[in-house]
Amino acid sequence: MTQAITPSLTAAITGATFDKLACKECGAEYALEAKHVCEVCFGPLEVRYDYDLLRQKVSRATIEAGPNSIWRYRSFLPVATEDVIDVGTGMTPLVQSERLARRLGLKHLYIKNDAVNMPTLSFKDRVVSVALSRARELGFPPCPVLVQATWPILQRRSRQSWIGLLCIYSSGSRSR
Ligand SMILES: [Zn+2]
Repeated sequence: MTQAITPSLTAAITGATFDKLACKECGAEYALEAKHVCEVCFGPLEVRYDYDLLRQKVSRATIEAGPNSIWRYRSFLPVATEDVIDVGTGMTPLVQSERLARRLGLKHLYIKNDAVNMPTLSFKDRVVSVALSRARELGFPPCPVLVQATWPILQRRSRQSWIGLLCIYSSGSRSR
């Protein structure tokens, strides 16, 4: 099921740095709407950004002036409005790994520690934050979200205000 962009959303999207969806396999292009699969070849669709606009609009200074979360990189994410779901996701630390660097023959090696991501301590917090912001932007109502996290963490987080979204725990294929 797809949902076309509403006229009000089109007006709000003027701050967007992306202008279309394109099939990763065959290159077929689509208007910005809630669609993820190519109608021609069933390939995945990806967002096409306007790189000339990005060069004009984004600098190191504009990024540094942004919030302390993934949303300082909003121009590189497929969300147009400033009204995003920001629960502090991102900005996780880089940890230097000297022994692994030596073993791999590297001078320096840093590992991104996404196990301290917010709100569920999972790297998936990033994509969920972006997907929910975009879903709200497209006019979808609040929806259930499947997340994988330890139950106590989820219970603690779900008590906090998170735009009224229902969080459902899924044991999924979590390895032991
Ligand atoms: Zn295609």
